[in-house]
Amino acid sequence: MIAAAPVSQRPLRIADVRRPPLTPGHVLLRVRACGLCRTDLHVVEGELRPLREGLIPGHQIVGEVVEAATHMWPIGARVGVSWIGGVDGTCWYCTHGAENLCDAPTFTGYSVDGGYAEYALAREDFVFPLASTLDDLQAAPLLCAGIIGFRSLRVAGVAPQERVGLFGFGASAHLVIAVLKAWDCAVYVSTRGAAHRALASSLGATWVGTEREQPPVPLDRAITFAPSGDVVVAALASLRKGGILAINAIHLDRMPPFDYDRLLWGERQIRSVTNMTRTDAHDFLAIATEIRLRPQVTVFPLEKANEALAALKSDAINGAAVIVP
Ligand SMILES: [Zn+2]
Ligand SMILES: [Zn+2]
Repeated sequence: MIAAAPVSQRPLRIADVRRPPLTPGHVLLRVRACGLCRTDLHVVEGELRPLREGLIPGHQIVGEVVEAATHMWPIGARVGVSWIGGVDGTCWYCTHGAENLCDAPTFTGYSVDGGYAEYALAREDFVFPLASTLDDLQAAPLLCAGIIGFRSLRVAGVAPQERVGLFGFGASAHLVIAVLKAWDCAVYVSTRGAAHRALASSLGATWVGTEREQPPVPLDRAITFAPSGDVVVAALASLRKGGILAINAIHLDRMPPFDYDRLLWGERQIRSVTNMTRTDAHDFLAIATEIRLRPQVTVFPLEKANEALAALKSDAINGAAVIVP
């Protein structure tokens, strides 16, 4: 549970809470693993407006159905839960194939309790089947870092064999690069942290540089992962005419002024990536299974959730962090 504050003040505390009472249309899950996401940091530190007291964060849940079995989800079924925990199904966006932009969404681990817990409640139509070839720890980071990273590729319009820049190389980027390699793309990674650069090289990046270096060729697509407007401007400077930049961040520190004539003119585009649809989830999980995507994972016990978030904040995690209750 949290009281929004900087992670240095250990805002998460362990508490005994009632098992969530079952409500219609939901399944009760025993949590087997829960991935950490930068969005958890924004929730815990209050950069995203706090919505509830005593919230349990966490939105990359691998769980086992223990109550409210349906024909779809029998007892013992292993499923995944992501950031979008539900939509109204009736607003203009939901009825036009854009449920990621729903006017009344539910966010796992933000508007409802999430997976830094032993049990979690999830809408039965917003849980996803997981291939048996993925173990719990491998599956957890796929559920937001992977799915929304994959959506970023769609938003940026990535086609096979293109030149794609990844700016920042955390949990999401280290999964995205596997999909790009499967599509035969050349991947240019610009990131701070020698360990992140080494990981990018080992995963097949064509070029790797620091956050101050620019890729040596103009890029067709760029995706930024760091919550920094300066990174967005740096990425924009690397795009060819007509190229698209997708911002994979729910929060940016600020958006600095930039030179329109040099950086945006030429039909370059900047697009934000907002949430995900269930189609994104199903499509990405199928690809991840097919290409045998295996995240690099650092495991923390639930009691060490503050330490895990602090490690994420200081870029000390290479790959993805996962909490196990
Ligand atoms: Zn809606
Ligand atoms: Zn997330």
